Amino acid sequence: MPQEFMKRIVEGHAGETEFHQAVHEVASSVMLFIRENPKYLNAKILERMVEPERIIIFRVSWVDDKGEIQVNRGYRVEMNSAIGPYKGGLRFHPTVSLSILKFLAFEQVFKNSLTALPLGGGKGGSNFDPKGKSDNEVMRFCQSFMTELARHIGPDTDVPAGDIGVGGREIGFLYGQYKRLRNEFTGILTGKGLNWGGSLIRPEATGYGCVYFAQEMLKTKGESLKGKICTVSGSGNVAQYTVEKLIQLGAKAVTLSDSGGYIYDPDGICEAKLAFVMELKNVKRGRISEYAKKYNCRYFEKKRPWEVKCDIAFPSATQNEIDEASAKVLIASGCRCVAEGANMPSTPEAVKIFLKEKILYGLGKAANAGGVAVSGLEMSQNSQRLSWSREEVDARLQQIMIKIHESCVKYGKDEKGFINYVKGANIAGFAKVADAMLDQGVV
Ligand code: NDP
Repeated sequence: MPQEFMKRIVEGHAGETEFHQAVHEVASSVMLFIRENPKYLNAKILERMVEPERIIIFRVSWVDDKGEIQVNRGYRVEMNSAIGPYKGGLRFHPTVSLSILKFLAFEQVFKNSLTALPLGGGKGGSNFDPKGKSDNEVMRFCQSFMTELARHIGPDTDVPAGDIGVGGREIGFLYGQYKRLRNEFTGILTGKGLNWGGSLIRPEATGYGCVYFAQEMLKTKGESLKGKICTVSGSGNVAQYTVEKLIQLGAKAVTLSDSGGYIYDPDGICEAKLAFVMELKNVKRGRISEYAKKYNCRYFEKKRPWEVKCDIAFPSATQNEIDEASAKVLIASGCRCVAEGANMPSTPEAVKIFLKEKILYGLGKAANAGGVAVSGLEMSQNSQRLSWSREEVDARLQQIMIKIHESCVKYGKDEKGFINYVKGANIAGFAKVADAMLDQGVV
């Protein structure tokens, strides 16, 4: 059945390789569970889950600083609303395609279900590249993008957030345009500024949550993060706050990267060095190679940090950034835990190796769910017109990560005590959405 099912997916969604990859992982994990629970089979739940409820594709025209007209493509994939309004980020990156957004939206359905919050799944974005654009150009693009998107979103319908290329600046411009069009001050985006409806801890949430998840995985072996050498990829939102939490918990982060290459700082990235990275990436919008010049350490151009010896790896840049060869190198150099801040950063071949070696492998949809979880908390605060304290949001985030870990253990632990987080997360995420779909009839 998995082969037949995947054949239909590959034919029916031709050329969408990232989407095939994401569906294959879930289908392989849940097929047995579905067979054991024929109610899901008879109601064709998985067949329905892989078909987005709605896809919106639109033209985004805007004028650059030279007065030239630019044209990009905008998307919103509204994947599943069985347990709540569509929820998931917007990605602005030249590689954005329907395949990438369908894979991300599909992952999001299971991830959001795992948080135990009432959130459906969606994802959107554009092939627009904010890199090298002026603030005014980014603003004009965001205004044009939102002019169309505004028709399709709403606080009880679809609530986008940030992702690669969409941070506080972009969310601000998008929100301003929505408010102008609708004359409504309402929670239609998360990741908003603190003065205008944002939640404390939302910027930190994905990175912090990923480290909390790694902590839970280590606890199952009686270990902690203290003194652990960690490699981190990326140097954006997720990577920055992963490093911040690692420092706080006594681990040593030794790498960061961007699409140009990675830096290796064997002394560890301390708070002062991290502050430099935040200024460099969030304000000056510079390249990570400048870290190597400033702190006199090595920079490896066009390479990824998986060749550096570590105890734990935190891939926090993009999809498929750990391939089979990198996974082998990681294992050979002693890495015993991988916690994915990014979405689907390990190729299927790499995942196979992690599972064969029985390391602690925390896949993205479980390990990086802290971001959307705090987005869910931002929505609750917006509905109540209240702001919770930093401590309160952080405590809730920690609790949610602990619960997600427990769900993975519930469905993923075998007789010998090995926890297959892939199986655990996929079945736990699937069951809740599937039951809601059964209750709601054939829609
Ligand atoms: P940012 O845009 O803040 O940072 C992305 C980082 O990854 C940058 O350092 C960027 O380098 C690097 N990067 C992006 N694409 C590539 C590529 N093709 N090859 C090498 N490096 C690349 O994004 P986020 O930190 O928000 O997101 C990172 C990952 O985490 C993504 O997979 C995202 O889907 C996932 N995620 C994010 C959440 C969030 O709350 N933000 C929530 C859950 C998951 P450069 O600047 O050179 O492009």
